[in-house]
Amino acid sequence: MVNIKICIQKCNHKCLKSAIDDHLISNIKLHFDLVIKSFDALQQNIRQYKEEINKLNLENETLKVELQLKSKKDDI
Ligand SMILES: [Zn+2]
Repeated sequence: MVNIKICIQKCNHKCLKSAIDDHLISNIKLHFDLVIKSFDALQQNIRQYKEEINKLNLENETLKVELQLKSKKDDI
């Protein structure tokens, strides 16, 4: 039975299990770039989440102020 292994670094490389080490070593630069790329994508996601959180916080603060103003007006 031929033992085919898919490269763990998501470079879509398939080869014999016995050749995967050679592939990993001879493509270090490619794999490094892939890791950096997925790291960048992750950071981009985090940045977007943070922006979303900031937006929601701001909305929350705005609603609080509006509520305060409204209850003050009701007091008068
Ligand atoms: Zn690979």
